[in-house]
Amino acid sequence: MTIPATATEIHLASRPVGLPTSENFSLVEAPVPDPGEGEVLVRNDYLSVDPYMRGRMNDVKSYVPPFAVGEVMDGGAVGTVVASRSDELSVGDTVLHNYGWREYASGPARHFRLVDTTAVPASCYLSVLGMPGQTAYFGLLDVAAMRPGDTVFVSGAAGAVGSLVGQFAKLRGAKRVIGSAGSAEKVSYLREELGFDAAFDYRSGPVGEQLAEAAPGGIDVYFDNVGGDHLEAALTQLRTFGRIAMCGAITQYNNTEPAPGPRNLFLAVTKRLRMRGFIVTDFSERTGEFLAEVSRWVAADQVSVRETVYSGIGSAPDAFLGLFAGDNTGKMLVRLGRTT
Ligand code: NDP
Repeated sequence: MTIPATATEIHLASRPVGLPTSENFSLVEAPVPDPGEGEVLVRNDYLSVDPYMRGRMNDVKSYVPPFAVGEVMDGGAVGTVVASRSDELSVGDTVLHNYGWREYASGPARHFRLVDTTAVPASCYLSVLGMPGQTAYFGLLDVAAMRPGDTVFVSGAAGAVGSLVGQFAKLRGAKRVIGSAGSAEKVSYLREELGFDAAFDYRSGPVGEQLAEAAPGGIDVYFDNVGGDHLEAALTQLRTFGRIAMCGAITQYNNTEPAPGPRNLFLAVTKRLRMRGFIVTDFSERTGEFLAEVSRWVAADQVSVRETVYSGIGSAPDAFLGLFAGDNTGKMLVRLGRTT
């Protein structure tokens, strides 16, 4: 194949205040480098857009450094090696990396992880067999310590992480799985395609009332992707010694003022609740454990994986902004090259 002299990448143009807009991004034509000794050149096939990237657009110290203005939005991507000066990777290999929103990525071969696409599409390494899958797996089973027979509630349930939390919970013996999402279509998806026992549309009525109705006997585990009124509702419904996995709080990512805390936090004392935050990389050393079990479920067709796919590098900002409008069901991705 012909490698072009230049290709497009997406830079952070400015830092947003509140909800980002397309003005915060710029499309830049940059030279495609020749790989140096020990390096590879990769043509990206899929880019991942993720809610955590919103935090990186701010200039604040956190668990991951902020994006630099005028630099590429880095993040998860999968692609095909098109030139190699390394013994570790060959032309045609499919690789996972973190070089982000660009058509071509180049760097030392050790920054690119070879993935096996004989049984699953490459995009799976950005969803069920990648970061969202690992977040769901360890968040549910380690952080929230879900046990067979538990009743589990997950918010953001039709998204990349949430849709897997519900399915993993069922596969590991949860008695009842309840999900919330932002539309009637998503609620049907949870109930009819993913096998949730109950689901509700948080936009159609108060979360507290809808959760109480869906969980008449209370819940043992809450997997929190959104924070806000969902967290309050879960605190009310949790049984004594219940556990919360604090995974995300997307209701707050675009706030310009600190959000108020849950008004009923004292319930954590009276019910002896455990609330534990985590970052998926806390479990990096246990990736093998996650892949062993989840790959088996995927191979046996026991996990349903949905993707919402935008096309072309120029659509990455819209795909990203769509996360905050609920435009995705399952994993939000941007497809650049191949179609499978
Ligand atoms: P999703 O695929 O779930 O996409 C985001 C979803 O959030 C949207 O589809 C939308 O669905 C929902 N949403 C957007 N705004 C709101 C709102 N104001 N209130 C309620 N729901 C909203 O993203 P991911 O699965 O990638 O991430 C889910 C959560 O997990 C995020 O909070 C993310 O930051 C966190 N996360 C944490 C990790 C960690 O290591 N701790 C790792 C990965 C993710 P809807 O239509 O239902 O509103």
